[in-house]
Amino acid sequence: MYTYRDRIRRMCEQNKSSFVVSYTDLANKEHVLAYFLPEAPFQMLEIFDKVAKDMVLSIFPTYERVTTEIHVRISELPLIEELRTFRKLHLNQLVRTLGVVTATTGVLPQLSVIKYDCVKCGYVLGPFVQSQNTEVKPGSCPECQSAGPFSANGAKI
Ligand SMILES: [Zn+2]
Repeated sequence: MYTYRDRIRRMCEQNKSSFVVSYTDLANKEHVLAYFLPEAPFQMLEIFDKVAKDMVLSIFPTYERVTTEIHVRISELPLIEELRTFRKLHLNQLVRTLGVVTATTGVLPQLSVIKYDCVKCGYVLGPFVQSQNTEVKPGSCPECQSAGPFSANGAKI
C-alpha cells in the first residue's frame, strides 16, 4: 500500500476525494485483497474506502474539512464474467464483478484492519487488511528502518 502514499498525497493536493488503485498492483502485492475483491466487491470497496480515509487522515489530519468520504476506484480489471459460474475457472484471474454480487455471503471471511506501532520509534504502520487465515506483519519500519518489534495497536473495522 505504500506505493499509494504518493498517489494519495497528489489527490489531496488537488482537493479530490477519490483515487485509482490498479488491480494489477493489487494482484501483485496484496493477493488476499485481490482475491476477495471480486468475491465481495461492495464489502471490499467499503473497507478500501475506510483504509484510504485512514491513510489520508494520517497524512493530512484535517482533510475532513475538504471531504468526509474517500473513494477508491479500481482500474485494470481485465475480465467481466458472471462470478458464480466462473469463480472456479478464474480463481487466479480477475473477475470484474462490480454490480454482480450474487450469493457471496457464507464464503465471506472475517476481514479486519490492523495497525502496528513501531516499538522503536513509535511510528504507526498500516492500516493493513487481513483475513482470519492470513496474518499481515510489517517487515520493516518506513520511518526508522527498524525490523521490529512491532506491536498491534488494535484498530479494527
Ligand atoms: Zn520505527
